Amino acid sequence: MCLDPGHGGKDPGAIGISGTYEKHVAFAAARELGRQLEASGRYKISLTREDDVFIPLEDRVALAQSRGASLFISIHADALLDHSVHGASVYTLAAEASDAQTASLARRENAADRYAGLGMVGVSPQVAEILASLVRRETRVGSAEMQQHIVASLGQEMTLLEHPARHAGFAVLKAADIPSVLVEMGFMSNSHDEAALRQAGHRAMVANAIRRAVDSYFAAEGHPARNTG
Ligand SMILES: [Zn+2]
Repeated sequence: MCLDPGHGGKDPGAIGISGTYEKHVAFAAARELGRQLEASGRYKISLTREDDVFIPLEDRVALAQSRGASLFISIHADALLDHSVHGASVYTLAAEASDAQTASLARRENAADRYAGLGMVGVSPQVAEILASLVRRETRVGSAEMQQHIVASLGQEMTLLEHPARHAGFAVLKAADIPSVLVEMGFMSNSHDEAALRQAGHRAMVANAIRRAVDSYFAAEGHPARNTG
């Protein structure tokens, strides 16, 4: 299983009201989730970054594929223009965004590669549609199932965003053969979410909820846990 702490290095991700960097919160949460999953003895975990380094989105997908991952979970805490919006939400890849807020979220996420100096500022709707069409049907079904497990599990522990299961053209979710989801643990643009995500105890609770969702996902029929990656 591959865990993907969002952003890193020269890409700080969102910067919170009181100055918290998304890249640090995402890394701490992903590492805690990896620790909990490994402690269960049931999964082999790899992270797309082990340090505070910049990794282009394309490379994150390639890493998951080269390690034979059976699941890809990208961990984020982005910012929205509306600072009152708070709560956790889970995203899958689709050509059409579920709503305007998610469309702009995906645009900003995809623009992370501008830090690579590739001159690429986001993925156009046409490219997003091509990405989505490359993903196999079984992979899309697996992603949607994983999304539902995480939404259900997180919902038992914390506030969720309204309509917490959303979708858009996130480039980091485009692996054709690996069910992939992106978790927004909360939003750095909301002072309550930012304060919570600064707490190791809160991040451990979020990680625990995702771990339970992973267990439920693999317990369901048809999702053998490949003990690699
Ligand atoms: Zn992010």
